[in-house]
Amino acid sequence: MENLELYEHLLNLSSVKVEAVELTKDKVTISCKLSTSSCICPTCGQVSSQVHQSYKRIVRDLNLISREVYLSIKIRQFYCKTCTSYFTESLDFADANKSHTHRQEDFMFMVARKQSYSESAVILNVHPKTVERTVLSLCKERVDLAQRYAQVKRLGIDEQSHRKGKKDYLCVLTDLDRGTLVDILKSRKKEDLIAHFESLGSSFCEQITDVSCDYWRGYISVAQHCFPSATIVLDRFHVTNLLNSCVDKFRKLLRKSETDNLNYRRLKWILYKQYHNLSDKELINLQLCFEDCPLLKEVYWKREQFHHILDNNQKIEIVLQKIEEWVGSMNEELKNIFKSFTNTLNSTMEYVANYVKNSLSNAVTEGLNNLIRSIRRVAFGMPNFEHLRWRALAISN
Ligand SMILES: [Zn+2]
Repeated sequence: MENLELYEHLLNLSSVKVEAVELTKDKVTISCKLSTSSCICPTCGQVSSQVHQSYKRIVRDLNLISREVYLSIKIRQFYCKTCTSYFTESLDFADANKSHTHRQEDFMFMVARKQSYSESAVILNVHPKTVERTVLSLCKERVDLAQRYAQVKRLGIDEQSHRKGKKDYLCVLTDLDRGTLVDILKSRKKEDLIAHFESLGSSFCEQITDVSCDYWRGYISVAQHCFPSATIVLDRFHVTNLLNSCVDKFRKLLRKSETDNLNYRRLKWILYKQYHNLSDKELINLQLCFEDCPLLKEVYWKREQFHHILDNNQKIEIVLQKIEEWVGSMNEELKNIFKSFTNTLNSTMEYVANYVKNSLSNAVTEGLNNLIRSIRRVAFGMPNFEHLRWRALAISN
């Protein structure tokens, strides 16, 4: 096999004919041209073989054994006799205005998936801006946003704080049936969300059958306003969290008042678990605590009862009635302990109960939040919302 032929095989670009190769310590420059003798005129569709002029175009390709590879391609400009116009031949392996081949761009995208632009730039030996531009344009190319919105029926709405310690929230929209990210919005403000959903058109608003969100009042009123026929469900995850925070507040008091009791140590995570999920060791530990503090047992069982209501009933009217009974049966001590939970229940009971309709959970959103967090970590130094958004959307594709 001739040397040039070998390079053609290595390149594996069917339309390319290698004419010369120049090797240096860290660089391979492959001079080549397209093997076709004619080209189709983009204006009239006729074949032309009349070359008017040609020029050199340099495109970076994938590295070859630690050497950077550059294709120096002879690009021809043709003259079309039929419509008397000039046109330039295009490459099927690189876009007209780009200095990298498609496969080199794909590689850049892969490298930048889990690393920052600047780290990726060092690995690839290109400018960080090149990585940034390439990644962003590939993300936009790969994400069909309209399609994502078109297929969602059950919508999850949740938030993510954008910058640590700042009240700067992103709003995360998910497709609960598919378990996928739909979009990330820069603001979770009520009026911004309403404007966003309305901009998607009435057909979008009408296709939403269920909305799952957390306790934040803004989401509930957005859902009521934009999706009047949808069932609003308070996410079980957040309901459980609020319930557990009451139990935990009581545990902290207990721990403070009885610092000598070793059983109360490491009790937090045991208390968070539902009874059927406890290990034998945890059961023994819990039992000992119950013996030391009967009120703790009451608190724990009260919490369990609430879960039982949501887990063992299908009819919303029955659930509502049982929740009312659950609140009503508390003595003063328990009322005080569960105060923050029952206060919230007053205005949201219907949405909490809607959970039993189809056990809708926003757990997907919680998982996707982790993804966004990891992207935010690698986006460090580039706190640009649009980048965060498109990278998260592309990675969750
Ligand atoms: Zn023509």
